[in-house]
Amino acid sequence: MTSLNNSGMQRKTVAIIGGGPAGLMAAEALAAGGVQADVYDAMPSVGRKFLLAGKGGMNLTHSEPYDAFLSRYGSRTPQIAPLLAEFTPEALREWVHGLGIDTFVGSSGRVFPTDMKAAPLLRAWLHRLRQTGVRLHMRHRWLGWTEAGTLCFDTPQGQQTVNADAVVLALGGGSWARLGSDARWVPLLSQREIAIAPLQPSNCGFEIGWSEYFRSRFAGDHLKSVAITVELEDVGLPASRKQGEFVITAEGIEGSLIYALSAGLRDRISASGKAMIQLDLLPDWPLQRVIDEVTRPRGARSWSSHLQSRLGLKGVKTGLLRELVAAADFADPLLLAHAIKALPLTLLAARPIDEAISSAGGVTFEGMDRQLMLKALPGVFCAGEMLDWEAPTGGYLLTACLASGRAAGNGVLNWLR
Ligand SMILES: Cc1cc2nc3c(=O)[nH]c(=O)nc-3n(C[C@H](O)[C@H](O)[C@H](O)COP(=O)(O)OP(=O)(O)OC[C@H]3O[C@@H](n4cnc5c(N)ncnc54)[C@H](O)[C@@H]3O)c2cc1C
Repeated sequence: MTSLNNSGMQRKTVAIIGGGPAGLMAAEALAAGGVQADVYDAMPSVGRKFLLAGKGGMNLTHSEPYDAFLSRYGSRTPQIAPLLAEFTPEALREWVHGLGIDTFVGSSGRVFPTDMKAAPLLRAWLHRLRQTGVRLHMRHRWLGWTEAGTLCFDTPQGQQTVNADAVVLALGGGSWARLGSDARWVPLLSQREIAIAPLQPSNCGFEIGWSEYFRSRFAGDHLKSVAITVELEDVGLPASRKQGEFVITAEGIEGSLIYALSAGLRDRISASGKAMIQLDLLPDWPLQRVIDEVTRPRGARSWSSHLQSRLGLKGVKTGLLRELVAAADFADPLLLAHAIKALPLTLLAARPIDEAISSAGGVTFEGMDRQLMLKALPGVFCAGEMLDWEAPTGGYLLTACLASGRAAGNGVLNWLR
């Protein structure tokens, strides 16, 4: 569909479906290229997941060296690298500054807006988008294409069809469906023979069969300063060890340290039904020091007060030892010291995708050209979390969503030319 611009020339219209960060960035690139950008979203307002991301501190990107940054996209690094080359983490920060929002680098290297919030950034962005002529159409749920090939939407006024010269799909992944990204686009594209890798939870929690006693006492407790080793020798890889913190949940475990390991753990569970990790409750203590302290005479003290006074272990850490170490091993100081440094935990399943921070899987890169246009549907481009990649938390998700949105928008401009 074309419309007249100020000089009376016909100008192209592009439909962007999905008003998350990827879709809005595509709209920005398209408006800058002089086409009419119309954003359609099923929800009453755009950027709902983006706003949620701001609740715990909006982590925009990461300041680590570029090679390390790229490596976070794992096996999809070759596909994500060209997108990031056009919109680097540094360019992202400049873009945020251009919206009048300052950023800072936290002690971990993560980049945040100075006030840590998403709402002022989204407000400023939407204001600028509207000024450049981007139109937002809320409560427009995309239903697919009509027989004639026009876009079909469910709206409060009933079903409507829309003609556009090109389309950008930025429909999000499969987590937190109540914020809009409900993955109902999957069958719509599968019907069109678009290859889609199954959506799976990413940056997710895991289930552990806690006893009722442990669950009722410790669900919600944080384990701070622990390390997890994931054994990978059976698949010919060195063991991977990370330090951080996580939370005990009624069903198992979640939190930043778990998310960082979640892709490998999820794949391990898919392959063999479970995943083993080893928990180091005192990562800054060498094993020998733990042995020395545990084997000191205990006198009349209980094991709990002995561990607390000699090693500072208490609360949920002692609870975990009680939960996981056999009574006979608990009475053997040497075995107990080894358990404190390498407590085995069996993960039974990933938590459901709807609870995850993000999802893996989606439209495969093989089905798109370098501009992110679907080979099977010329004129239809894809961007954001609905593409088949995943990354840990740390700002890598938003960075790739924004970069791919920009790449899709620029891809449309090239294609229309
Ligand atoms: C709790 C939480 C915290 C997070 N924190 C961070 C963080 O700090 N840093 C970071 O980098 N990432 C973070 N993320 C991840 C990040 O928010 C997402 O990766 C990002 O929002 C995905 O962007 P997107 O544009 O691809 O999709 P989305 O933001 O999911 O947007 C997709 C849009 O498409 C619309 N839509 C879907 N289907 C249809 C349809 N059929 N018709 C019309 N519209 C449709 C939806 O309503 C939605 O508005 C967090 C996620 C969560 C859940």
